[in-house]
Amino acid sequence: MIKTKVGWHGGVTIVTEKDVIRLDPNIKGHNYVVNLISHAHGDHIVGLKKGAIGHITAETKDILSYSGICRLKDSEVLKYDEEINIGDIKVTIHNAGHVLGSAQFEIQTPELLIGYTGDINCRDMMTTTAAKPIDCDVLILETTYGTPIYTFPSPEETYIEIVNWVIRNIRKKIIPVFKVYSTGKAQEIIRVINEFTTIPVITHPSISKVCEAYVKNGIKQKYIESTHEEGKELIKNQQCVYVMPTNKESILEKNYSIAYATGWAVKYNSINSNVKSFPLSNHADFNQLLNYVEQAKPKKIYTIHGFKENFVKYLNKKFGANAQPIAPLGQTILRDFISARD
Ligand SMILES: [Zn+2]
Repeated sequence: MIKTKVGWHGGVTIVTEKDVIRLDPNIKGHNYVVNLISHAHGDHIVGLKKGAIGHITAETKDILSYSGICRLKDSEVLKYDEEINIGDIKVTIHNAGHVLGSAQFEIQTPELLIGYTGDINCRDMMTTTAAKPIDCDVLILETTYGTPIYTFPSPEETYIEIVNWVIRNIRKKIIPVFKVYSTGKAQEIIRVINEFTTIPVITHPSISKVCEAYVKNGIKQKYIESTHEEGKELIKNQQCVYVMPTNKESILEKNYSIAYATGWAVKYNSINSNVKSFPLSNHADFNQLLNYVEQAKPKKIYTIHGFKENFVKYLNKKFGANAQPIAPLGQTILRDFISARD
């Protein structure tokens, strides 16, 4: 009988006879549980913010500390391709292609090889390189866009659309404004504008902080913060692109046009053509997810996030796969592992 258990308990949790690993926890947890954090986005660091100690990549640590999101005094720092031992479990860290420092974890327990993708992107972008599938027995797969409508055009097609839209606005003395996530998408947009135009990019301060972490890790970013005199002057003359977070109000008073850059634009564009949105995503789309499963060849698949039920139905019907959305760990198992170690 296989003794390794996989389920949800304050995060994806893997229990072996001797050890417990929790992936992207949303609780502080117990001392005997070892936490692995896949990347710096808010929904994956809830546990860290509550004081959990976790293993994170050096790049993720840079993003979190530069942007002041959370204190990380006791966190262990990981490198890609590194192997670490956690009791009877061996973990190898792989690139996830999602944002700077994003990691997939290859987890070898005494009985099973488990792959945990975190958020993944399997295509090369301007600021990230494609994730490679982990060959595994059990796959824990993020399925944010796990339904067929979410099929994205190539990044290059979208870069061209973005640059065209920017130039059309600049010629009309209208400032193109991108409202995007501060970590990952903002830096991708900045890199696109830098690479294909000479138009200055002005950034909101919370985005500049994340850009600093990207620059420290060798990713080119040319930008001027909106609080600097030069930034203010460029905004006044309407000869710049402005990149700001989705959750903030624009500081611009007039003559600007807003665009979003997200995978959700595939559907959004078709229902509201008045709002500009570009289908530029740093997640795998439906086809990339299918390719991942085909290459990883797992015997069992657990889905998390987004269209997890749709993707399971599709996999089971079309491929006869053994897939299900991740389920809570059974009470018996929890009682076993808590009573043994608390
Ligand atoms: Zn993410």
